[in-house]
Amino acid sequence: MLKPFEALVLSVQEISESDLWVQFISAEKGRFAAVAKGARRSRRRFVNKLEPGHLLRVYLRPSRRGLAPILEAADLLWAPETLRTHPRAFVLASYFLELCERSSPPAEGRELFPLLREALETLDRTPEIQGLKAYFEYRLLTLLGWAPEMEVCLVCERPLSERAYFSFRRGGVVCAECAREEDQPLSGPVRGLLRSWGRLSPETLSRVVLSRDLWREAEKLLENFLLRVLDQDIKTLKVWREFRE
Ligand SMILES: [Zn+2]
Repeated sequence: MLKPFEALVLSVQEISESDLWVQFISAEKGRFAAVAKGARRSRRRFVNKLEPGHLLRVYLRPSRRGLAPILEAADLLWAPETLRTHPRAFVLASYFLELCERSSPPAEGRELFPLLREALETLDRTPEIQGLKAYFEYRLLTLLGWAPEMEVCLVCERPLSERAYFSFRRGGVVCAECAREEDQPLSGPVRGLLRSWGRLSPETLSRVVLSRDLWREAEKLLENFLLRVLDQDIKTLKVWREFRE
């Protein structure tokens, strides 16, 4: 048996009449999968534990043939309490979980664990919070090595004045002279917001004063950039869009 450690459940899938395939992310092992044998039949051992978003202490037994380890037992350390009664926050939490699962190859993504944990806890405490989605996307991009450049034009390297554009192709800002047709105008307040996010925690989001339209601008920009970087279909995003419209 391996030394037990903390891990967040990303997703749970049925793989046979009795077994579950559970995807986790942890600070120790990054993203990994484990088989919960008999979990479907004997729910008692894992009752209320193997749910996406739950923080567990996991007890793993390595499997003999180099397959996924066996989940022998789990202690529930934390579970979201308010998300079930807040559909919008629930969908957002599912989106965060899916992003972490899809952006990390197996055994990678250790650095995503604290971000995901903090975002889920924040969402559970303040389900109506503004801007958490954009904040999460920005931090995720940064951790994946795709922090958008916000200070100087990526073409001519001059510091930017008020008028700036965002280039999805280049991954950051360009000045009015260097902008191409497909680049998106970037408002001053949104650029200021994104420049400050390296220093902010989700806790401080509630102090950011920004109009609904500007939040929307920041959110769309980061979402589009993240989708371009990941180049994958994110299922929960479709559900989220219905809430947003
Ligand atoms: Zn330029």
